[in-house]
Amino acid sequence: MIPLSLAEIAAVVGGQQHDIPDPDARVTGPVVIDSREVVPGGLFAAFAGERVDGHDYADRAIAAGAVAVLATRPVGVPAIVVPDVVAALGALARAVTERLGATVVGLTGSAGKTSTKDLIGQLLERLGPTVCPAGNLNNEIGLPVTALRAGEDTRHLVLEMGARGIGHIRYLAELTPPRIGLVLNVGTAHIGEFGGREQIAVAKGELVEALPAAAEGGVAVLNADDPLVRAMAARTKARVVLFGEADDADVRAADVRLTAAGRPSFTLHTPTGCAEVTMRLYGEHHVSNALAAAAVAHELGMPVREIASALSGAGQLSRWRMEVTERADGVTIVNDAYNANPESMRAALRALAAMGDAAKERGGRTWAVLGKMAELGEESLAEHDAVGRLAVRLNVSKLVAVGDREAAWLCMGAYNEGSWGEESVHVSDVRAAVDLLRSELRPGDVVLVKGSRSVGLERVAEQLLAAE
Ligand code: ATP
Ligand code: MG
Repeated sequence: MIPLSLAEIAAVVGGQQHDIPDPDARVTGPVVIDSREVVPGGLFAAFAGERVDGHDYADRAIAAGAVAVLATRPVGVPAIVVPDVVAALGALARAVTERLGATVVGLTGSAGKTSTKDLIGQLLERLGPTVCPAGNLNNEIGLPVTALRAGEDTRHLVLEMGARGIGHIRYLAELTPPRIGLVLNVGTAHIGEFGGREQIAVAKGELVEALPAAAEGGVAVLNADDPLVRAMAARTKARVVLFGEADDADVRAADVRLTAAGRPSFTLHTPTGCAEVTMRLYGEHHVSNALAAAAVAHELGMPVREIASALSGAGQLSRWRMEVTERADGVTIVNDAYNANPESMRAALRALAAMGDAAKERGGRTWAVLGKMAELGEESLAEHDAVGRLAVRLNVSKLVAVGDREAAWLCMGAYNEGSWGEESVHVSDVRAAVDLLRSELRPGDVVLVKGSRSVGLERVAEQLLAAE
């Protein structure tokens, strides 16, 4: 963080200083919202949550070295008191971002934001100091906290922007105005809250509306393969760069295939040349994420060969996203339990199927342990049925569906597809799935674990890994 005195911070956020012996004391960062993460020289922002109230931890934060607490009431230790801590964090982030010399990259989309943010971070780090923390810091608290990690030497600040409604991205983009704005896709995530895909596109498009004009360096990076994203070109003054598999994309993947190990491979075309990419990450959906990251890196001057090598070398993203771990006994767990939608479900199954031959050579089988895909509305039955069928068609060895109604639909699809699908198993919960797998798994087996966030299937992966 750019060091600021408590007096400067109080002025920026419009707060009152309480119990502050030295207003010139400097905060060097970071700003944290969990008192256990306080680092000497930092600032602790106290929030009143449903179960815990950060204000109760103010003295602990100070004891751990925080210079002061940002709070809504005096707490008996050095504090800057404001009516609204979220708004104060936002104001602080805005003031600090203005002083940065960094290029701000903002990205949004329905699926793949965190994965793509992580890829962009791994690429841009090769160009210079980059702030791009792991995890999912994409809302009105996480985004300013991330921005406040940037310092004087930061060259790139990469910010994930999430939206649960109209105006959310506009607000985030005002706090930390991006020069490069990337929109990945418009899917069905949170469709109920928005009331339709067109509304989601309106909300995501606020990012490109907020960009500076082309003459001032504004760049909108848009997915050429998603019609609702492509159409956002009409809503921006920035220069438009298209990525995707479409023929007219500026940054394009050709000859996309899966290697025998289940890894996506393609030829990366950019306006300055092309190069081969074979990713270490699993799942075809990462091709789109990789192209988006490549387009951003290309824009910032990275040579195409270096982009290709960084994409090929990019390792584990934030956790629970196609996280592959081999147990000592030779069972491989593929933990993709962070979330699921029909597209990523298919991509994950194809990756699993591609790993099947190698598994067979070692005497193992492939298992798909799947939970429901949430928020699909009236498409739900058909989509679950189709995923169950696909598992059979791809010749995955075993399907275990976890949960209630939607899990039954997954099994029904597999059953109706015939072949081994008739042996697929439906279990009611995580406990039952773990018990079943513990008794059945053998060396060489590969187990994919995937479902929507609410199913919490990472517990299956974790318990299988803990069982060693
Ligand atoms: P959130 O809205 O929770 O922040 P996100 O947009 O950050 O999600 P990720 O965390 O990167 O997305 O990925 C969430 C899930 O979406 C992953 O489990 C993955 O299977 C899937 N996914 C990732 N990239 C894509 C993509 N380009 N298209 C479709 N699905 C994807
Ligand atoms: Mg995310």
